[in-house]
Amino acid sequence: MSTTIGLDIGGTKVLGVLLAADGGVEREERLASPHTGLEALVATGASIVAQLGAPGAPVGVGAAGLVDREGVLRYAPNLPNVREAPLGDALAHATGRHVVVDNDASAATLGEVTYGAAVGRRDVLLVTLGTGIGGGFLFDGRIYRGAHNFGAEIGHFTVDPNGPLCACGERGHWESIASGTALGRMARDLVARGGGAAMVAAAGGDPSAVTGTHVGIAAAQADPDARDLLVQYSENVALGLAGLANILDPECVVIAGGLVELGPLLFGPLREAFARHVEGAAYRPAVGIVPAQLGERAGAIGAAVLARRLLP
Ligand SMILES: [Zn+2]
Repeated sequence: MSTTIGLDIGGTKVLGVLLAADGGVEREERLASPHTGLEALVATGASIVAQLGAPGAPVGVGAAGLVDREGVLRYAPNLPNVREAPLGDALAHATGRHVVVDNDASAATLGEVTYGAAVGRRDVLLVTLGTGIGGGFLFDGRIYRGAHNFGAEIGHFTVDPNGPLCACGERGHWESIASGTALGRMARDLVARGGGAAMVAAAGGDPSAVTGTHVGIAAAQADPDARDLLVQYSENVALGLAGLANILDPECVVIAGGLVELGPLLFGPLREAFARHVEGAAYRPAVGIVPAQLGERAGAIGAAVLARRLLP
């Protein structure tokens, strides 16, 4: 039996999959991420593991933050009250299973390289657009980790010193203008200026409840405000992507995370804006910007692939 479990722990939800040896997802479970600290987070993870079953199957975890080589989640900007948290040990204790923990975007990269949009590639930039922005680099066929396993935190470089405050406390980080959370804030700003009626309607009439999801719903109904907002937002995403592509020269850019669900409404303006900003676009092969084939499951599937090293 070579089934493994993968958990993707993000700022909004914990998604778990039971992965067969051939890469097929046999079961999937999800719960909202608690924001009250490690104990609640571990209880949520353990509950999903119990629902997935497969007694004895090892567990891989991708967690949104700085995860060291010992499986300690040292810092997670979008998981308040979880700092210096021995996530791997605590989850192993709670589940009685072998557990390995890595960064969520590195796990998503592993998933896409093994079963998704980046199979056969050697140099890949993966970007997760969700509550925050995560990143994973495949460098010459290997996941780039840095000296402390903290590499590829691509959401946290400054694009505007006067920009919005980032979840990490810095001002104007790329994440603060280009995450899914940022899209929601841009939508609420528009509503405050008197626009975005279709988005408010999609949010049940409550202007304060408008999120990126409602932008997507309104844009799918051809609402001009929502479409314009996605063009502005894509520009923000493209600024960071172009800078990273200039530095890394990837074969392709894989976009993962909840915003992938927007499909062409996001990828159309994003590809257009990227081509305007990347260095020497006319003089280099086009860099494909493609959705994660594993969709929002990329991180959980990659975490389950990671757990295979724990199999007997
Ligand atoms: Zn930041």
